Amino acid sequence: MDSIYWVVSRDCNQRCPHCYNDSEPGAPGLGDDDVSRCIAHFPDLDEVAVGRIILSGGEVLAWPELLFHTLRRIHDRYLGGTPVWVQTNGDLLDGPTLDRLLAHHVRRVDVSSMDPFHPKGTLERRDALTRLFESRGMLPATGSADDASRQTFGFWGATEEQWIGPLWPRGRARQNRLSSAGPEHGFCRMWSGARNFLDYGGEGCEVNVQLADVYPCCPMTCRPVGCLLDEPLLAILDRCAGHPVFQALNEGRPEKMGESLGLNEAHGFQRSRELGNHCLWCDEFFAKHAPELLRRGTRTERGMVDVEVEALRPRRPAPVAPPTHIGVHPFKILDE
Ligand code: SF4
Ligand code: SF4
Repeated sequence: MDSIYWVVSRDCNQRCPHCYNDSEPGAPGLGDDDVSRCIAHFPDLDEVAVGRIILSGGEVLAWPELLFHTLRRIHDRYLGGTPVWVQTNGDLLDGPTLDRLLAHHVRRVDVSSMDPFHPKGTLERRDALTRLFESRGMLPATGSADDASRQTFGFWGATEEQWIGPLWPRGRARQNRLSSAGPEHGFCRMWSGARNFLDYGGEGCEVNVQLADVYPCCPMTCRPVGCLLDEPLLAILDRCAGHPVFQALNEGRPEKMGESLGLNEAHGFQRSRELGNHCLWCDEFFAKHAPELLRRGTRTERGMVDVEVEALRPRRPAPVAPPTHIGVHPFKILDE
């Protein structure tokens, strides 16, 4: 398993117009007991290696005791056997906080707010934060194997090519029409999509955990595939692996996810075109044709909300251009 991307809280000191998961001041996070239950359901490392755990939000430093509790529990469980990265908007990061992060075995800090959607004051902190990282002996992340033996940092943000453009962000990013994702964008088969999410024994597998809810991709299916409060992560993935719907998503092919239910690939393409993109078709498919395949009654599920809101809108203009490359994960690694 390459990585577990884990949003432990959606609480944030900001309320950006492009936020994909509706983070804002006062948004919910996990309780300490919930964190412990989730970590108990992470894989045993002798069963499957976990390349990294990325802790994100919301803004993780808006709720520091939750973050540090999570870091302690991860270290108790893995004893440093899995690198832990922290993703922050950088607003609340200062010397004592960075020292505390490093003392809690954080291997990499990513400042993910370097884009025009964040306030100018956030962008202006970059030089000071760079000096802060360097003062603690941290190095710019390179994305190479050398990073494994270093404590590193990175800066990135939502760019037209890597996140906000062809992808299909949820939450306010969708409400504010900041995505140009269209039916021609095969986002599901890119790095942040569902492709390979079941292949935890191989390469290219990432799961997205929002609070305790497990999703196959960063855009998030309309409901999660399972919940870590009461089921181990590998059991959730193994259960999904036995079903042709999830096998299609594992190929990055949402257009053919309905084949086993008599909805052929042409129908999937047609609905993607009519609705606006593949992820909206995915929402419609699960909500209307296979609701039993996703977990109901969780804290982060959306149901049909995106499809219904989209249906009330005039059709969006066609995207300017298809993506020119498959970028690295906007929430994980930007080392280009
Ligand atoms: S984009 Fe980041 S900083 Fe902005 S509201 Fe969302 S989590 Fe907070
Ligand atoms: S089509 Fe479905 S599974 Fe694939 S990226 Fe979109 S929401 Fe995720």
